[in-house]
Amino acid sequence: MLKLKNLKVYDPVNGVNGEIKDICMEDGLIVSDNDKADEIRDMSGHIAMAGAIDIHTHIAGEPLPFLRDADNPLLAPSQILGEQYLGLGYTVAVNAAMCALNAREAILEENAIKDLDIGNLVWVGENPLFTKLINEESKESNKSLPEYLSWLLSISGALGLKLINPCGGQSSAESSYHKTIDKMIDATMDLRLAHPLHLHHPFLGSNIASDAVCETIKAAAGRPLHLAHLQFYGYTKNSNDETISAAEKLADAINSNPNITCDVGAVTFGEAAAVTADLEFGEKFGKSKKGFVSTLWEADGGFCVLPMKYSAKNRMNATQFLTGLELMLLVKDPSRICLTTDFPNGGSFLAYPYLIHLLMDKSFRDEELKKLNSKALATSAVPSIKREYSYYEIAQMTRSGPAKLLGFSGKGHLGIGANGGLSCYKEMGNKEDMFRNPAACLKGKKELLSAPKIEYNIDFVKKLTEGVYSVAFEDLEDVHSWAQSLH
Ligand SMILES: [Zn+2]
Repeated sequence: MLKLKNLKVYDPVNGVNGEIKDICMEDGLIVSDNDKADEIRDMSGHIAMAGAIDIHTHIAGEPLPFLRDADNPLLAPSQILGEQYLGLGYTVAVNAAMCALNAREAILEENAIKDLDIGNLVWVGENPLFTKLINEESKESNKSLPEYLSWLLSISGALGLKLINPCGGQSSAESSYHKTIDKMIDATMDLRLAHPLHLHHPFLGSNIASDAVCETIKAAAGRPLHLAHLQFYGYTKNSNDETISAAEKLADAINSNPNITCDVGAVTFGEAAAVTADLEFGEKFGKSKKGFVSTLWEADGGFCVLPMKYSAKNRMNATQFLTGLELMLLVKDPSRICLTTDFPNGGSFLAYPYLIHLLMDKSFRDEELKKLNSKALATSAVPSIKREYSYYEIAQMTRSGPAKLLGFSGKGHLGIGANGGLSCYKEMGNKEDMFRNPAACLKGKKELLSAPKIEYNIDFVKKLTEGVYSVAFEDLEDVHSWAQSLH
């Protein structure tokens, strides 16, 4: 047993807010102090939080191989990603979009990511069979959708369901994105998945997005819904036809609907890459640009990639940066807005310590704002916001909030029996330096995080998927057991 003495502990789940405590660990678990420590370390001057959780990142599987480059630190081969995450005090990541048919490849890549615990969200959106099932209004289809979704979860070993840009944001006589979202919120609840429907809403990046997202929040009518990378929907136009932030409206909608959660999808400056199964967005944004790759993936829809760079001097990029900050500063409950950059879409997750510094230190924030495009800054509310996050709120945003949302009862806290690891940081004035260099990040054996196995009618699903996939139905079975056997 390892005993760490005199830590200043921030553990919202257990109501601990900066008390000085000793924490004991054995085999990756938090254990009670039995006075039989093999090693004792005095950690005076250090704070402790549970291992952090990235609820929305893209680290494995298609379409990342189109971007990976051993010389590109943003998207290096997967082996170093684990070191990078643990090097910031992160112990868990959720790979936010995996196509079912590519699950084995994604899981093999994840297996090569050292030490980090990983779960996957399997996507639906433009899969033709899925669209057909959503639009069939019959007794039979009421049975078909949950059977199909259970099968997708099973053949991908996934943790939850991600809905990407349903119907391309369109509505017609046969289909509408409103109906698709509505049915999928219900289906996710009926399947008793711990994580609410994880929604990549239509109209990403457009000026109409914020109104549409607010309508969706209203239509959810109290049912749980997670909005992915909300920053990318936080824009509107002013009277001069300029794109400005709509973060205030979105934050108000989140604040008054406790059933809604989100991750921010913050933009940071430097190298990034668009990685998405939202083909409509990809075609509009990237088609003529260098490095753009778009492809269809059998019966699961398609995806595209585009290398990019965000610049502080670019008006739109600066507006995006400010919109993310504004959202995080205006959403009152930090446990309902998880810290993400939608890696690599908004930039690298290595920017988290910088973003934490911006949230915790108003004077640092003011200095950083001076580097931005002045027109973007002139329209932003960020300079007038005085809020500074506390350590406790950072722990809610990066630990207890995402753990609760994902149903990880053992993670995101430091109670006896917790298995989500422990991060210790030497307390410093410069929060970026502090959160970039943990004095310790300790955790147990690597885990693949899956939803509990859901039963489905094999014969029924086999008939349903007949002629759709190029891989034999029997060969798609049992990814869940195979994946667990890798560990
Ligand atoms: Zn994403």
